[in-house]
Amino acid sequence: MYNRRKFLKTTSTVAGLVAIAPRTFSKSFLNKNNTGFPIVISTWDFGVAANKEAWKILGTGGRALDAVEAGARIPEADLNNHSVGKAGYPDRDGHVTLDACIMDEFGNCGGVAGMEYIAHPISVARLVMEKTPHVLLVGEGATQFAVEQGFKKETLLTDESKKAWEKWLVTAKYSPVINFENKQSKPGDKYNHDTIGMLAIDAKGNISGACTTSGMAFKLHGRVGDSPIIGAGLYVDNEVGGATSTGVGEEVIRNVGSFLVVELMRQGYSPDAACKEAVNRIIKKKPETAKQIQVGFLAINKKGEYGSYAIQPGFSFAVCNQEKQDLLVSGKSYY
Ligand code: ASP
Repeated sequence: MYNRRKFLKTTSTVAGLVAIAPRTFSKSFLNKNNTGFPIVISTWDFGVAANKEAWKILGTGGRALDAVEAGARIPEADLNNHSVGKAGYPDRDGHVTLDACIMDEFGNCGGVAGMEYIAHPISVARLVMEKTPHVLLVGEGATQFAVEQGFKKETLLTDESKKAWEKWLVTAKYSPVINFENKQSKPGDKYNHDTIGMLAIDAKGNISGACTTSGMAFKLHGRVGDSPIIGAGLYVDNEVGGATSTGVGEEVIRNVGSFLVVELMRQGYSPDAACKEAVNRIIKKKPETAKQIQVGFLAINKKGEYGSYAIQPGFSFAVCNQEKQDLLVSGKSYY
């Protein structure tokens, strides 16, 4: 499990080095061609490693779609990451069920939801997009499709995740609230969620995005969050920009969050102002829950300017471009 306290410390050091003032991010880096791309941005601290992988493709003139797929596979394979891919925490019945989606510059998209036994849902999502006339495959159908496409079936529940689930079973308190990082966070605190959402613009200026998660830990069997839903967990419009989300998926779905962020950017909002407005809509609908849940949006516009906004403090994202391959940024927050 990631130690978020340690991460927050690291973030402030990195922020100090590059003179970043937390809460004021809507940035772009202009490169020698006077554009803000190629660039890739990703949610959370594990976005740094994902971006590095994506950069191998983006930095050598490759396509944004290939970059986000390759990047998202890194946390999916990371056995220390219990909220994405293999080693994700299971649902309350002990099944590890994975959700992912992907979208390219042409508006093509694909997703899988509640898929078991396949370690790289993002790659299956891409094949749903490329090889079927459909957008979303779920459950056994998604696994069956993956196997037909040559993916190996494997056990996704690791010993560590199983132990966490068994510990949870002692009380089996179904409490689908989101843990969020704050000043009270202690080393070793467990967070019951997270998603990697990635947005990339390649050297041609084309945008793609990817989003992958194991969803909420110990969720009801069959529960699907925002992450595999195009428009909720991810949206890309190559004329405007892209957005992705993390946090309580139900609230993001209710507000069609990522589509909303992109549409706001179309109307002229900057990436962080668009994310903020989407957060405000969520809070306006359910003011009573705003202090209990986390939802964060991350967005990039066609110029390569990026920004984020989250309900709670502690949301971070990673940025990678020609100048920096490992920049972690503290997102702006409502509280
Ligand atoms: N959005 C994910 C879900 O609701 C979880 C997260 O990103 O924290 O499944």
